[in-house]
Amino acid sequence: MFSELKPLPTDPILGLMAAYKKDTNPNKIDLGVGVYKDEQGHTPVLKAVKKAEAFRLENETTKSYIGLAGNLDYCDKMEKLLLGNDHPALLANRTRTAQAPGGTGALRVAAEFIKRCNTDATVWVTTPTWANHISLFEAAGLTVKEYPYYDYENKGLLFDEMIEALKQVPKGDIVLLHACCHNPSGMDLNAEQWQIVAELAKDVGFTPLVDIAYQGFGSGLEEDAQGLRLLAATVDEMLICSSCSKNFGLYRERIGACSFIAKDAAVADVANSVLLSVVRSIYSMPPAHGADIVNTILGSEELTQEWHQELAEMRDRINGLRSLLKDSLNAKGTSQDFSFIERQNGMFSFLGIDKAQIDRLREEYSIYIVGSSRVNVAGVSKDNIAYFADAVATVLK
Ligand code: PMP
Repeated sequence: MFSELKPLPTDPILGLMAAYKKDTNPNKIDLGVGVYKDEQGHTPVLKAVKKAEAFRLENETTKSYIGLAGNLDYCDKMEKLLLGNDHPALLANRTRTAQAPGGTGALRVAAEFIKRCNTDATVWVTTPTWANHISLFEAAGLTVKEYPYYDYENKGLLFDEMIEALKQVPKGDIVLLHACCHNPSGMDLNAEQWQIVAELAKDVGFTPLVDIAYQGFGSGLEEDAQGLRLLAATVDEMLICSSCSKNFGLYRERIGACSFIAKDAAVADVANSVLLSVVRSIYSMPPAHGADIVNTILGSEELTQEWHQELAEMRDRINGLRSLLKDSLNAKGTSQDFSFIERQNGMFSFLGIDKAQIDRLREEYSIYIVGSSRVNVAGVSKDNIAYFADAVATVLK
């Protein structure tokens, strides 16, 4: 059976990570992998997380299963983090949440859940989107189609084209939206644009699925959820897939959530029974550790405050680097204008350089960037930004 298999190409990011590891150049820079890094290039465990883990070690009393939906206190706190404490969809008891193994696990659960709701649903994703979105939904047997989103030429949004395309989406299909810090482009919708999309969802009859993997990495915890909240206040039904990988720095603990909002509490209960049966058939029950950490932090005023501060430090560093990168690159006087880096949000932006220039950066300067030219802004530091800007200016000549 196994000998019939054909090898698959390695994921380009994983290949790039391996090559970076092997590189002995002391000036090497990794802008490929999508994790937050501090000024020293580390992805630290947050202090609030360390404290919550110490508490857990002392106070955990059982390793018995935690149930299909996971830690219910965690689910409750995540709904409030996502929607705000007093959101109408929460007050009307229309929201249900299942803890999931990371944002990816949440998306896979959502995909199987969508399949149960409507076998023929097509999932519409932004062009471009996080590559795994497409494989995830296709793996669940759903059709994936794209709608215009990023304007490569003007480094902005193709908003009119996006709206025209969404007007044509058949009723009952799913439209995936990135809540904030769009991966890979960094280009987000503003509040006015979110409202237009929300009205459109209602008129056209598609169901929004909001992927929120970077809440707090753009402008703030509240600000980054404004589009999602607006949508939730407008439509009868929607899905939300969230991740605590980035904002709590819990990447390897695999903690996220799959939530949905139904038209009323009775429909929500029925749909929730289907959601939980989906979970049962994939991994039965989620792991406990990450949810317990998040629940402990959000359940303590002191730890929440510490977490907010640490999250703000990560966000401020990213936004500071965005300004610095823009200034350093623009100061080189190349024909490109890099001001877009400052206008975009989160860790990613497309540098907008070609394949040959990306190869030169890697071969001559040990600067590692994926083939699309997406860079992780958090991968540079104040110390090597000048080296990076010099290298980019040289390959652009
Ligand atoms: N959605 C998007 C847009 C992402 O960028 C990521 C992580 N790269 C995820 C979901 C999944 O995150 P997790 O690591 O929690 O599975």
